[in-house]
Amino acid sequence: MRIQLATEPGRPEHPNEDWASTAVPASGLGGVLVLLDGVTPPPGDDGCVHSVPWFTARLGGSLVELSASRRDLTLTEVLAASIRRTADAHRSSCDLSHVRTPQATVVLARWDAERVEHLVLSDSVLLLEGPDGTVCPVLDDRLDRLPPGSLASEAVTDARARNKEGGFFTAAADPDVASRAVTGETPRAGVRALAALTDGASRWTETFGEGDWTAAVGLLREEGPQGLIDRVRKLERADTDRAFLRRGKRHDDATAVLAEL
Ligand SMILES: [Zn+2]
Repeated sequence: MRIQLATEPGRPEHPNEDWASTAVPASGLGGVLVLLDGVTPPPGDDGCVHSVPWFTARLGGSLVELSASRRDLTLTEVLAASIRRTADAHRSSCDLSHVRTPQATVVLARWDAERVEHLVLSDSVLLLEGPDGTVCPVLDDRLDRLPPGSLASEAVTDARARNKEGGFFTAAADPDVASRAVTGETPRAGVRALAALTDGASRWTETFGEGDWTAAVGLLREEGPQGLIDRVRKLERADTDRAFLRRGKRHDDATAVLAEL
């Protein structure tokens, strides 16, 4: 088993709000992969005295611990318990009902000798590569399916769609959101490698169209996660007329993990 991970902030002066970790047990057969993309709040009140990195470190740490130590829990149950535990850590000091309370996208994968389990919530990407090189993307595309114009501004998005029925869901303070995640499992023999990307890294495919998901896994294997991020940064710098980025951030926090089982 070989695991590679790279992360880079979108702006050097701003803390990286992505969070990623992997864990492997001594037996060598199993492991856990966690990748979060913390949602940057708009300037002003978010009801919380903590930072996004504080939130992602709490949530991510709990996801690693519970998914590795509590094999009796499903990944949905692990996410719900981790959201609850993180909320309890600041329930007394912060307004957790605020629509912009700290929140994150989630990719969670766990494997052992028999199977690979996965969970994806919001717009980070998990890629499962089969023994023949076929890549199956696991995507929660609720954000992409919202009608055009419904995301006209951040305020409108918050009011109409963020963690609301018919909209899209992130891991914030409500454990029930865990049931909205895309989940599944694959026989271990059917997975040669897993890759996880935050949207700052999946831009290589989704924004710039440099290659499909199979090509993205190929690039991760050949040049490593840092190689993929370096290519994204180069494409972003070259897009001076915003033909690809349009109104999006020039650079976003970018994290990529490749686990070759
Ligand atoms: Zn707080």
